[in-house]
Parts: sequence; C-alpha cells; structure tokens
Amino acid sequence: MHELSIATAVVEACAERAAGARILRVRIEIGQLSAVLPDSLRFCFEVCAQGTAAEGAELEILETAGRAICETCGGTLALSSPYGRCDCGGLLRIVAGNELRVKDMEIA
Ligand SMILES: [Zn+2]
Repeated sequence: MHELSIATAVVEACAERAAGARILRVRIEIGQLSAVLPDSLRFCFEVCAQGTAAEGAELEILETAGRAICETCGGTLALSSPYGRCDCGGLLRIVAGNELRVKDMEIA
C-alpha cells in the first residue's frame, strides 16, 4: 500500500528531526498528481505514529494543484491526472503536482 510506506517515511523523518521532542503537528505537501489519497494517508500516519514521538500528532495535508507546460506550444495547463496532452497535440512536462514532502512541523 502506497500510503503506508509514505506514512512510515514521514513519521521516521519527523521523529528524527524532532530529536526526542514530542511532535504536535506535521504539515505535508502532496501534489494532486502523486496519486496519494489524503484520507488514507491520514489514517496510515495515525497508525505508524503510535509509539513514536509523532503519536497523537495532527497531520495537515496541503494539496498542490497539477500543472504542466506544453513542450510544443509552451502553453501552461492545469492537470488533474499525470497523463494528458496539450490541445495542440504536444507532449506535456509536469512542473507542479508531484510534490510529496514534509513542509514543517510543530514540536512541544
Ligand atoms: Zn501545446
């Protein structure tokens, strides 16, 4: 399960950064094109956080919209899936929407 491995990595990274302090809140950025389901990730995070510094921490998810630039006409498009072509038939280069990172966190 995709979300479970991401949640594990997020919890580990946060616990390391917190260096023993209790984590109150974690904010992560998820691109709409990363195929991560926020609800599922939130649930996995809760499970993974048990017994760690992140136990009981609130997970705030910031979704970033998908955007691509057409390699042919240079136009910018909003994307809701990682597959698509420009109206001109050109290939798209994704410039936003693949993010998956811990933005910041609050510790006690
Ligand atoms: Zn185009």
